[in-house]
Amino acid sequence: MQTYDVIIIGAGHNGLVCAAYLLKAGYSVLLLEKRPVPGGAATTEECLPETAPGFKFNLCAIDHEFIHLGPVVQELELEKYGLEYLPCDPVVFCPHPDGKYFLGHKSLEKTCGEIARYSPRDAAKYAEYTEYWLKIINALTPMFNAPPKSIIDIAGNYNFSKIKDLVSTLGSVNKTMDFVRNMLSSAEDILNEWFDSEFLKAPLARLAAEMGVPPSQKNLGIGAMMMAMRHNPGMARPRGGTGALVQALVNLVKSKGGDIFTDKHVEKVLIDNGKAVGVRVQGGQEYRGRCGVISNIDAQRLFLQMLDKTDVDAVDPALWERLERRIVNNNETILKIDLALDEPLRFVHHQHQDAYLIGSILIADSVAHVEEAHAKCMMGEIPDSNPSVYMALPSALDPSLAPPGKHTLWIEFFAPYQIKGTEGTGLKGTGWTENLKHQVADKVIDKIAEYAPNLKNTIIARRVESPAELGERLGAYKGNYYHIDMTLEQMVFFRPLPELANYKTPFEGLFLTGAGTHPGGSISGMPGRNCARVFLQTQQPMAQSLKDAREALLSMVSSVLKSR
Ligand SMILES: Cc1cc2nc3c(=O)[nH]c(=O)nc-3n(C[C@H](O)[C@H](O)[C@H](O)COP(=O)(O)OP(=O)(O)OC[C@H]3O[C@@H](n4cnc5c(N)ncnc54)[C@H](O)[C@@H]3O)c2cc1C
Repeated sequence: MQTYDVIIIGAGHNGLVCAAYLLKAGYSVLLLEKRPVPGGAATTEECLPETAPGFKFNLCAIDHEFIHLGPVVQELELEKYGLEYLPCDPVVFCPHPDGKYFLGHKSLEKTCGEIARYSPRDAAKYAEYTEYWLKIINALTPMFNAPPKSIIDIAGNYNFSKIKDLVSTLGSVNKTMDFVRNMLSSAEDILNEWFDSEFLKAPLARLAAEMGVPPSQKNLGIGAMMMAMRHNPGMARPRGGTGALVQALVNLVKSKGGDIFTDKHVEKVLIDNGKAVGVRVQGGQEYRGRCGVISNIDAQRLFLQMLDKTDVDAVDPALWERLERRIVNNNETILKIDLALDEPLRFVHHQHQDAYLIGSILIADSVAHVEEAHAKCMMGEIPDSNPSVYMALPSALDPSLAPPGKHTLWIEFFAPYQIKGTEGTGLKGTGWTENLKHQVADKVIDKIAEYAPNLKNTIIARRVESPAELGERLGAYKGNYYHIDMTLEQMVFFRPLPELANYKTPFEGLFLTGAGTHPGGSISGMPGRNCARVFLQTQQPMAQSLKDAREALLSMVSSVLKSR
């Protein structure tokens, strides 16, 4: 039996980030990953070796924004381990059926210039709107980059500019109430309050719906900030694909003596006297963690699949049922399409420019179009009669992803996990079959071809992954790539449940990280870093708290001095 200080279940990017911090602090770490490759929902794979050799596909995440709101890349010096971010600019292109289009640049001023071609009023409002959300983001990032219940950590993250933005957006009762009202509102309501033009509201609604809900969903007004992040800190992609971020983390973990064992499906957490002491993988092999076990998979999967109910009941008699019934996963996930192309897309009806191909390309004809795309999923219906799509041509920014002159197209089509009326049939009883996923993909491709008519004749090969297959690959309940829904009642102190919200569990030595913990899903590394901080505080409470307090004080003092 092999023994390490810490065993991490799953080598998603958050597990790897967490491992990196622990290794840097001197702990020995083993990551156990069920797939043949590490990275989880952050891999780049040459997955069509026969029909499209040399084409590298981002099987899940592509656009990185949240990670630039935190210190992970700098603190872990990931450039030294091979990571290079390529900034996207323009950041968004959204063609419209009436010939208008939205082209979002990193520069707010340039973007306003694009909007002013159609609506000077909306251009002026867009500047105000973006500035408001940028201040909110700046004011809130200290909370994203700290465990939700750690006041010292949160305080330490506030520098002068963040305090200024906090005061200017939340510094009076009315401003705070207005912010709360925005949070309780829906992205659609907020967009209608600010703007007139559909060509502008539709792409903003499309981006807001990345939270995994329709734009009309109340309590998720926070989705309205998604475009602002593309102005600052901006959007970027690792050269070589999202998998290059994972590769840099793997290089770092290995260089610090960490181990990553792939094809190791953890099936049990070993509990001894209320303490997590290790894990057992399929096949029976056991691995011991002297200081504990950290889970990169969410609390539902960890507790309900890997622990005995009697052990859970012994530490918290209410927890099992709360995990089973209180955590919410709606029915929406993704049908993923990856295409190898002979030539890039051409948006001939919209005065094609190659610049359109650099950032995300959105098919969102109206806010109602986006609404239908997400509302139908919740009802178990496939919204494929008029598909709304988030896609990208990653090889336009990074030619290393395809053979010379060729391209890859990444298409995200939101679809239900369980199709209504097909319960018990298809893969995992979801109703999804080989035939059906290809029929749906054909309709998605037809829709894109309305805007880029050269698409169909340029496809060399394709890979279509149904929601059920995605769920199988990630291991996530209902294919939820955020592990659990990103709704307000499951955020911050409530993620995944109040009693589990600070990365700790009622079992000594058992910790949670990953998308199912604060601040949630997407490529950020924040849950991994925050969890590592909590783990270290648990090991040496006095020493770590003093270190954190010292760092917090130094950071505040230096920021005040810089601002003078
Ligand atoms: C199609 C798609 C597109 C996306 N696009 C974006 C995007 O553009 N930008 C963005 O920011 N985010 C995007 N996301 C979301 C983002 O990829 C995820 O939220 C994020 O990668 C989650 O990281 P994680 O490390 O927390 O969890 P995961 O990546 O889910 O990692 C968990 C790991 O645990 C492993 N595992 C599971 N069960 C076991 C077990 N029993 N034993 C051992 N290992 C196990 C899994 O294989 C996986 O490697 C996208 C997601 C999808 C699916």
